[in-house]
Amino acid sequence: MVQDHKLVYAFRSGNADGGKDMKVLLGGKGANLAEMASIGLPVPPGFTVTTAVCTDYVRNGCFPPDLKKQVEAALRVVEGVVGNRFNDNDNPLLLSVRSGARVSMPGMMDTILNLGLNDATVEGLANASKDPRFAYDCYRRFIAMYSNVVLKVNMAEFENALEQTKNKHHVKHDHELTAEQLKKLVNQYKEIVPLRTGNPFPTDPYDQLWGAISAVFSSWQNDRAITYRNINNIPHNWGTAVNVQAMVFGNRGNDCATGVAFTRNPSTGEKQYFGEYLVNAQGEDVVSGVRTPQSINKVGNEGTDADAQDTSPTMEEEMPEMYAELVSVFETLERHYRDVQDIEFTVQNKKLYILQTRSAKRTTQAAVRTAVDMAHEELITKREAVMRVDPDSLNKLFHPTIDRSANNKILTAGHPASPGAAFGAVVFTAEDAVAQVENGKDVILVRKETSADDIQGMHKARGILTAKGGMTSHAAVVARNMGRPCVTGANELNIDFRKKQMTIHGVTVKEGDLITIDGFLGNVMLGKVRMEMPKKSAHYETLMGWADDVRRMRVLANADTPQDALNARENGAQGVGLVRTEHMFFDPDRITVMHRMILAENEKGRRAALDELLPMQREDFRSIFDVMKGYPVTIRLLDPPLHEFLPRTEKEMSDVSRATGINVEHVRDIVHRHHEANPMLGHRGCRLLISHPEICEMQARAIFEASVATGFVPHVMVPLVSTIAEFDEVRKIIEDTANTVSKEMQKLVRYSIGTMIELPRAALRAHELAQSAEFFSFGTNDLTQTTYGLSRDDAAAFIHTYTDKGIMPTDPFITLDDSGVGELIAIACERGRSTNRQIELGICGEHGGDPASIDLCERIGLDYVSCSPFRVPVARLASAQARIKRLRK
Ligand code: ADP
Ligand code: MG
Ligand code: MG
Repeated sequence: MVQDHKLVYAFRSGNADGGKDMKVLLGGKGANLAEMASIGLPVPPGFTVTTAVCTDYVRNGCFPPDLKKQVEAALRVVEGVVGNRFNDNDNPLLLSVRSGARVSMPGMMDTILNLGLNDATVEGLANASKDPRFAYDCYRRFIAMYSNVVLKVNMAEFENALEQTKNKHHVKHDHELTAEQLKKLVNQYKEIVPLRTGNPFPTDPYDQLWGAISAVFSSWQNDRAITYRNINNIPHNWGTAVNVQAMVFGNRGNDCATGVAFTRNPSTGEKQYFGEYLVNAQGEDVVSGVRTPQSINKVGNEGTDADAQDTSPTMEEEMPEMYAELVSVFETLERHYRDVQDIEFTVQNKKLYILQTRSAKRTTQAAVRTAVDMAHEELITKREAVMRVDPDSLNKLFHPTIDRSANNKILTAGHPASPGAAFGAVVFTAEDAVAQVENGKDVILVRKETSADDIQGMHKARGILTAKGGMTSHAAVVARNMGRPCVTGANELNIDFRKKQMTIHGVTVKEGDLITIDGFLGNVMLGKVRMEMPKKSAHYETLMGWADDVRRMRVLANADTPQDALNARENGAQGVGLVRTEHMFFDPDRITVMHRMILAENEKGRRAALDELLPMQREDFRSIFDVMKGYPVTIRLLDPPLHEFLPRTEKEMSDVSRATGINVEHVRDIVHRHHEANPMLGHRGCRLLISHPEICEMQARAIFEASVATGFVPHVMVPLVSTIAEFDEVRKIIEDTANTVSKEMQKLVRYSIGTMIELPRAALRAHELAQSAEFFSFGTNDLTQTTYGLSRDDAAAFIHTYTDKGIMPTDPFITLDDSGVGELIAIACERGRSTNRQIELGICGEHGGDPASIDLCERIGLDYVSCSPFRVPVARLASAQARIKRLRK
């Protein structure tokens, strides 16, 4: 049962029980309605029933006993503010009932508008407003919405009846129907309901209200909502709040309107008011795409190809005073929230009302740009700007874009609703999108407009194209949020869902045909168009510069080739934290030499083969040193067991036999001899270097000959150490080789030697190792495997069962295990530093590019993280954020 007995929080312009920091209890919408009301913005009065009531209701199936009293008391207050009464036959107060969870879930739970109407109150509304058309327009909307959301009648039934009425009277839009025509439609609607549900439409406004409140709470558990929460990792136990609010009417004539606006462009981040509206319309009309909305001003589509088509007047032109007022609200809200806002508004007979505000969902481009701009405007600090961008999302900035130098033939154009370019086979339903992607295809989902039912298909598709809707339609909002390129309102598309094809100017595009969409310009092209990598924007560079200024840990990259090293540098890596030497041996002209080395009868034979490998290794290192001039490079000596280089099948064995000239029986024999029951824990790493010192010598020699030639100071790293004796044994080989090279070349050889920490024993004996090692690099992949006694490749088969059941919070191979593996790392750092204050500490392995793992590294106090070149920007930003979080404490 709900503990706190305040179940209902009231708000009205100038006064509110709640505020923006109460999202947990009031949901995002409710908290922000309260906040806007309390700072005096024109918000229609209302009240919020808390999320705690929802959680309770979902669990127990009934409401807390006190709820009815509290709701009715709050309703009396609303009546007082508005000046008319709910369920009043002369001049009824109407309500909207709206859901709102802690984070916004677009389109997930439907709003019910115009609640409180029945055959008697609708007449009262008609009389009081002297506008029967308006009254019956509200009534038909209400019956359809309520029947759909609460009574689960298919919306299509009402849409079909509406469509038929419009056809019959030869009108194109809803608002062109007369009062009489709407009245007849209402009667039709009322017949649909008992036919489908077995019960008449509820006429008592209080029954309607409680039906609506229960429906909103129940909708938390509907499939769409659950799917959305699963995709977005939203906990299922948060619940939603219900907001009950006095209606204001955007459908009460031509001096009325409704719209959605952003204080900056949510697609590009440009500082420009950006939005869409519809005259004489209500609520969902704008987002649902039933009519293509008009821009509030001229800036939105400027320069895009959709701009050329769009000639409809703007709000700035049609309702200049309302527009000016709206702009002043934009300014107030942006200053107040210190972030880009997404605002819903309605104009009722020349009076502006604000119905919602929230931090705008935006693309990564927009997130970067708005954060930097707002810091320049001194709305937020540079550190806040750094905190505003999700590090994992940065990779979306580097998705390919259309190569504009190619002469692309444009099929048609719409709104550039979500940036990026995508190509794929056309599909016309969300189910087909899911099915085709399962068959390994890339698809573009083409719809007239999208709704919440399309979420899964949109998620699977490479890009989304709709014939209707604008920049704020469902498709646009969801696509931006998912980072999918999207073009909306391509109204020249003529889609035939039955034949699964569309025609544009006589060109027919069938299901499965390839198209390309350009979410930057709104263009649609046939076939696959040439793409190019986007350039890094100035805003991006600025933001990353601020991140670099604040972060403490260095960010290095794992690079095995000069090309990797180059990519790493371009992404801002400050060196190479791990060069894996084994990959170099798989090169076709080297593997045969490698085979000869492994298959050799004795050390002499092995040395002969190693002599051939030496110059190749030296060149490898030399070219990496060249790229990394001025930056540190850590090279790991050979790590995997030798059998990984050997042939497996009979055919491969005879190939090797032919290439090396060694007879096949011998090859087979050696392959068998190298077989290990558990290679991950077998003859590898330093164990191999100790039993084959000649391999270690060759690698050390290659490193030193290359480094002396280039004046480089390399870091040599010994893998899979568990005891100090092991480390010292390998260390001695390296030192002896350095001395030899130094004598031969008559030059001082400078280097440092350190070890991987990837076995629990090494972590525990770190104080000993640190006396001999100059650095530790935590090989967190192996350390996770050996700490859990769990092989990563074998875990793949069942780890999702563990995470689904909550036995493990996340896959420990993706995000470092904070308490177990993390503790071993912390112990090793502490013990290592206790005997060697100078010791350098870092991690290599993919955890080094995972924000949550990076946060752990900052907490432990590592000196650097090292990850794949393409994750380097993520690591730079995540390290900065981890640092800022620590500084705030
Ligand atoms: P969503 O969470 O899907 O955005 P909302 O609760 O914001 O749903 O409602 C959708 C739309 O319904 C709003 O954008 C607004 O246009 C309309 N609406 C909601 N409440 C009211 C109200 N009190 N008066 C008029 N229109 C409303
Ligand atoms: Mg809304
Ligand atoms: Mg390892």
